[in-house]
Amino acid sequence: MEQALHTPIEYLKGIGPERGKVLREELGIQVFADLLEYFPFRYIDLSQWYTISQLHEDVPIVLVKGKLVHIENAKAKGTKRLTAILEDSTGSLELVWFAGIEWVKPKLKLDMQYVVCGKPSLFGSRLQMVHPELEPVLPNVQTEQAKGLRPVYNTTEKLKKKGLDSRAIEKLMRHMLAVLPSQLPEILPPDVVTQHQLIHRTEALRTIHFPQTLHDMQRSRFRFKFEELLLLQLQYLRGTQQRIQHLRSYPLPVVGEKFNAFYHKVLPFELTNAQKRVVKEIHHGTREGRQMNRLLQGDVGSGKTLVAVMAMLLAVDNGLQAALMAPTEILARQHYHNIKAWMGQLNIATYLLTGSTPNSERREIGRALQDGRGHILIGTHALIEERVQFKSLGMAIIDEQHRFGVAQRAKLWEKSDLAPHVLVMTATPIPRTLAMTLYGDLETSVLDELPPGRKPVETKHLFENSRLRLIGFMREQIAAGRQVYVVYPLIDESEKLDLSNLISGHEGICRDFPAPQYRVGMLHGKLRADDKEFEMQRFKNGETQILVATTVIEVGVDVPNASVMVIENADRFGLSQLHQLRGRVGRGSEKSYCILMTGHKLSKEARKRLDTMVATNDGFVIAEADLEIRGPGDMSGTLQSGLPNLKVANLATDGALLGLARSVAKDLLQRCPKLDSEECNGLKSVLDRQQQSGTPWSLIA
Ligand code: ADP
Ligand code: MG
Repeated sequence: MEQALHTPIEYLKGIGPERGKVLREELGIQVFADLLEYFPFRYIDLSQWYTISQLHEDVPIVLVKGKLVHIENAKAKGTKRLTAILEDSTGSLELVWFAGIEWVKPKLKLDMQYVVCGKPSLFGSRLQMVHPELEPVLPNVQTEQAKGLRPVYNTTEKLKKKGLDSRAIEKLMRHMLAVLPSQLPEILPPDVVTQHQLIHRTEALRTIHFPQTLHDMQRSRFRFKFEELLLLQLQYLRGTQQRIQHLRSYPLPVVGEKFNAFYHKVLPFELTNAQKRVVKEIHHGTREGRQMNRLLQGDVGSGKTLVAVMAMLLAVDNGLQAALMAPTEILARQHYHNIKAWMGQLNIATYLLTGSTPNSERREIGRALQDGRGHILIGTHALIEERVQFKSLGMAIIDEQHRFGVAQRAKLWEKSDLAPHVLVMTATPIPRTLAMTLYGDLETSVLDELPPGRKPVETKHLFENSRLRLIGFMREQIAAGRQVYVVYPLIDESEKLDLSNLISGHEGICRDFPAPQYRVGMLHGKLRADDKEFEMQRFKNGETQILVATTVIEVGVDVPNASVMVIENADRFGLSQLHQLRGRVGRGSEKSYCILMTGHKLSKEARKRLDTMVATNDGFVIAEADLEIRGPGDMSGTLQSGLPNLKVANLATDGALLGLARSVAKDLLQRCPKLDSEECNGLKSVLDRQQQSGTPWSLIA
């Protein structure tokens, strides 16, 4: 039966060499099995008549019967639009056409009965069908009933030119299912199928294309989602195993003098329980010399820097060096100032290396690191992009990792003889489902507790017409001794325009907050490094009360006295950016505020983002919402990493199933690490095939 599935696609009746070629080129379909796994992207429900009251956004394409009670042909702002209202005994539904109006309109007659076929969608809060098909009720339409669900397949222009539209693919599929053996191979181990009440693969393949009922359709899709996620997790977890077996790093068995001196004498406060736990996790992970690859997630302000410092001390106490890499110069300098002050007390030589470090200094740093006099290096990308070599780099820490590309991270490996332990820290809370997929082979630690005494930031969304109120509020806060950030968007595509927005925004603020009573600073990415540093220091020291800035202050900047974050054009920022920016305030003991300013016109997504920000301070909730609004494809852009192409599963909505797949995968690998038992045979052969084209995940972080 394996053989039949691997028949080249052109041998299927109705395909032939020409269509076979387009299928190959357009959809990557080579053999019968590939076509069989080309699943419908939606269905037309012919199994029942729906009443209008049964419709909602999530039903498939459905059939409804009703009477037309209103027809209107309007023209607004140059676009034509035909609307009709369909009514049945349970309610009414709006039908809309923007195109093909001249064909549809003659068919519409008031007070006639029609059969309408379409997909309900929401427009605002109103349910409508856009471009439905519709026919007057005729006696023979009744025969459409009891046909189950009809599959709808994605096709392309090129395929359509060869006659391969959705209907044609449907026909091919029926034909292929008829010629294939009645039983096809199952790839999941039998006990997994029974335990999770999955339908057998053969049945699932049949019903995912031609379900009789919605329930059938959901069961078959569930089975394939599970299979897809299981394969994904097996692939990642196998990567971890290989790494555990192969990659050695320096063992860090000693918790020594420096670590203890820091903990007991230098550290100005008690660690939170979460910090203590994570430091322990890091020690456990590095003690034996198996290379650690750990993702540390912690919301803004949760105290990741301290964890980094303790991890670096662990390396130093074991006679090794450590590096901390930050995404911006401002942040690297800030880390350097704080950390050097502490390390100085412990006689640990700490250096800073950024793009603006003078050459002579670079050479000196290079020598110190190579002969082992230098212990800790803090810096920006300069740290990996230049030929910095260490005597023995034991711990590499990457702060705010989403700013770094995978390739950059990989360069860390070339710094020393043995691979260093790697700790990647992020405040962009990666939703659990995504983390599992992206970093399935990374260990993760979570700082799920904020240092004591923090008050949640109060967030408000204000429209332009409240600007006077905003100014009054800023004055009050400044009078109470606080400081204020005002942030403008700066997005590459329209950089010039944005810069002039920032500058005129700065001018406006200077008018509303005149010297000498008020002092206003301005900070953006185009300034020279030492000017940035100068502006930042003035704000830190309280010499300026307002800092007008771009998102250069987005990550990590720490000025506890600042209590107000005003974000202009807040609708232009993504959720995770807004959350990062908000994290700049609420760092001291005073109550803090985040004000989101926008105009009145907002897209649906922008409104959702702003509402989410007002509703919650929880980074994980925000990350989940972000994933839902944008979808995983888009998230991966921010994270600068590739995400697998999933056919049926959806990372935004199938989180629980991913968790299940992960535990089943772990279980299988425990039972049979090489997956070479008979029950795992099917899975193994699929994985081996996938691996030939896959990314070597296990070596990336
Ligand atoms: P993030 O996780 O966003 O990088 P930071 O490391 O910048 O957070 O810490 C935020 C602030 O909290 C800093 O001012 C830091 O000194 C302070 N902090 C960190 N840990 C503690 C703690 N255990 N108790 C009190 N304050 C802490
Ligand atoms: Mg930080």
